[in-house]
Amino acid sequence: SGPQNVALIVGVTGIVGNSLAEILPISDTPGGPWKVYGVARRPRPSWNADHPVEYIQCDVSDAKQTQAKLSPLTDVTHIFWVTWADRPTEAECCDINGTMFQNVLDAVLPNSPNLTHICIQTGHKHYIGPFEAFGKVKPHETPFVEDVQRLDAPNFYYTLEDVALDACKKKPGLTWSVHRPAVIFGFSPHSMMNILDSLCVYAAICKHEKVPLKFPGKKAAWNCYFVASDADLIAEQQIWCSVDPNGKNEAFNCSNGDLFKWKHFWKILADKFEVEYEEFNENQDYVSLVERMKDKGPVWDEIVKQNNLTPTKLEQVSTFWFVDLMFGWEFLEQYPVPPSIQSHLQEYILNDSATSKKLKRNNSLEISINEARQPILED
Ligand code: NDP
Repeated sequence: SGPQNVALIVGVTGIVGNSLAEILPISDTPGGPWKVYGVARRPRPSWNADHPVEYIQCDVSDAKQTQAKLSPLTDVTHIFWVTWADRPTEAECCDINGTMFQNVLDAVLPNSPNLTHICIQTGHKHYIGPFEAFGKVKPHETPFVEDVQRLDAPNFYYTLEDVALDACKKKPGLTWSVHRPAVIFGFSPHSMMNILDSLCVYAAICKHEKVPLKFPGKKAAWNCYFVASDADLIAEQQIWCSVDPNGKNEAFNCSNGDLFKWKHFWKILADKFEVEYEEFNENQDYVSLVERMKDKGPVWDEIVKQNNLTPTKLEQVSTFWFVDLMFGWEFLEQYPVPPSIQSHLQEYILNDSATSKKLKRNNSLEISINEARQPILED
């Protein structure tokens, strides 16, 4: 047998990174026993600390720091790319995400001669375009298949693929795989997009305030079929590609396959948190979750104190903008969201009335949820 498999997880505290950190070290994991390095910028959080992983605090957008922290590693055999950076435009996203990835390759490739495989996690935006292209670029028709042509719009997912392909061209024997999940269901309060975590925080706040759990979305979101990707499943797919010859030099979609509806999920969420359940009410005004939660910081502080939770701030443990994006993103112009989404949506929703009308007519959810996932809407 060859050398021991050694993983470098870039984004080890993220929604899939944390699953990889949990699964890779288990003794019967394919390719095991694995030795695991994990990279993230912040100090190691307590909930990640039990995983037998060598934690490396490093900002991979900084070339010098990346060299200093990662070039001493000489035994890396597999890279798991499960991180990303957000910027105001997709062109800038291409730039920064490509640079981060290249920084890591520049530190690892010359020093870890046994590097054999790179897994890159991207997602369904490969098929529908980045947030800024929503409504502007015609998405691929569902169901998505992996080998469709790229859309004609900048997309940092394409940049990552190109950087990986280029590295593999230069090093014979080095292989890649691309993993394209839908919305991810997993555990990580350090994730930049975590829909379940945000909904759980919302439910905890409703319970604490003794108010019913209202659905903070549109009717279409309440009724539509949805598909999600379990973080552990994505991690397992990446590990399979790392060790199986059939998983090389190919892109793979990754979703659980089971369809669900948010209206059914809503009952489960309410039961879990023992909070009063409320059906979607068509007559109620749409109020985004960001808006609903904007003054709830002190409430979260109370919840943390009363339940003796790890001290966190509401904005650290929630990504409410992402819930709003999934549940009704045409309202984005009304409230603060990360720059890459806000700037272009404002630009074309507010300034381009033709696009705006078309979007309203089509119901943007058809693009963001339906086109991205399942094209079946109940009325
Ligand atoms: P997360 O946001 O969950 O995690 C990001 C991880 O990377 C964290 O560990 C973070 O920790 C670390 N990180 C961020 N910036 C840096 C940096 N400069 N240097 C070192 N570490 C860094 O990642 P996801 O799994 O969500 O994202 C990976 C890919 O999956 C992205 O392309 C995303 O678009 C895609 N995707 C995500 C979905 C989702 O629902 N989340 C759905 C479909 C696709 P720290 O902040 O401490 O550095």
